[in-house]
Amino acid sequence: MSDQHAFETLAIHAGQEPDPLTGAVVPPIYQVSTYKQDGVGGLRGGYEYSRSANPTRTALEENLAALEGGARGLAFASGLAAEDCLLRTLLAPGDHVVIPNDAYGGTFRLFAKVVSRWGVEWSVADSSDPAAVRAELRPNTKAVWVETPSNPLLGITDIAAVAQVAHEAGAKLVVDNTFASPYLQQPLSLGADVVVHSTTKYMGGHSDVVGGALVTSDAALADELAFHQNAMGAVAGPFDSWLTLRGIKTLAVRMDRHSANAARIAELLVSHPRVTEVFYPGLPEHRLHEVAAKQMKAFGGMISFRVEGGEEAAVEVCNRARLFTLGESLGGVESLIEHPGRMTHASTAGSQLEVPADLVRLSVGIESVDDLLADIKQALG
Ligand SMILES: *Cc1c(COP(=O)(O)O)cnc(C)c1O
Repeated sequence: MSDQHAFETLAIHAGQEPDPLTGAVVPPIYQVSTYKQDGVGGLRGGYEYSRSANPTRTALEENLAALEGGARGLAFASGLAAEDCLLRTLLAPGDHVVIPNDAYGGTFRLFAKVVSRWGVEWSVADSSDPAAVRAELRPNTKAVWVETPSNPLLGITDIAAVAQVAHEAGAKLVVDNTFASPYLQQPLSLGADVVVHSTTKYMGGHSDVVGGALVTSDAALADELAFHQNAMGAVAGPFDSWLTLRGIKTLAVRMDRHSANAARIAELLVSHPRVTEVFYPGLPEHRLHEVAAKQMKAFGGMISFRVEGGEEAAVEVCNRARLFTLGESLGGVESLIEHPGRMTHASTAGSQLEVPADLVRLSVGIESVDDLLADIKQALG
């Protein structure tokens, strides 16, 4: 598949030539662990054992690389498995990482409770301010980690500006692109060194598979990551890879609808008397709306907002929603609602990443927007 094709075309075809044996238009689920060798070392297509490589996973990995405009994609058992592989590839004891002050709770927990035990230092910066990131750089800083839009406060980081700050200090820039997806934002083209995904979310898109990915255009780093992926072993299985590929085929049309529906709901929230603050990068009043507009094609399906009356009032709104399902995760076709302080971000309590207690987060699905608006109105009472 030529890199010149448009995103929508690559999403459906990249890495997925019809099966040479049967002509099957979708890559089969190669549910297999090992491969017959034609004489010792005589591998067919380079396949010897499915931790090292599996044809269904290869199809997904080539697709991911094409969609992010990278040289190489790697697929993992979860987003956190991808992050773990990346951190253990980039860092050694004594190294330092700058992490953002708003990030997925599990990412924060990985730094605070796991990586720190291996002698890796980290410090927190407001990544929406490149000068604040620069102020946290140390001689031993090896990576700057950014999430944009961020989870759960929909903060925006200027990827090109922070890439420059990181590179001046000899550090790599890592961008978690889970909220935007490569359809809305392509961090490698803006100077990032590695893109991280929880493919569980928009890439899979149907709340039926857990997975993660790394994509890079740095060939030397790609080789090191691939070595660690195999050496550590948290790979995506064949069926999970197939489900993710199937989800990705409709990524572009889904993201268009997620973005359109979320824009309407953000509008409703802004004018609602019980809502004290709305976080959505598509709103002109968002602090970094201009930066978001510069680096994103549209603003995605995630919104968070604060409710008058504090934590109990926010929890009540979550409990009253009917069509918005109360649950963790995001990025599926169905709408979800949650209370980050007690659910997805409970691990950030008491840290610099703690989230407001009166915050509600929405993952706006692709149902009828009128039905969604009616549900939010009744949940707010
Ligand atoms: C969910 C999520 C992760 C972790 O991915 P898993 O697939 O749950 O392991 C990482 N980053 C972001 C932004 C997420 O939303």
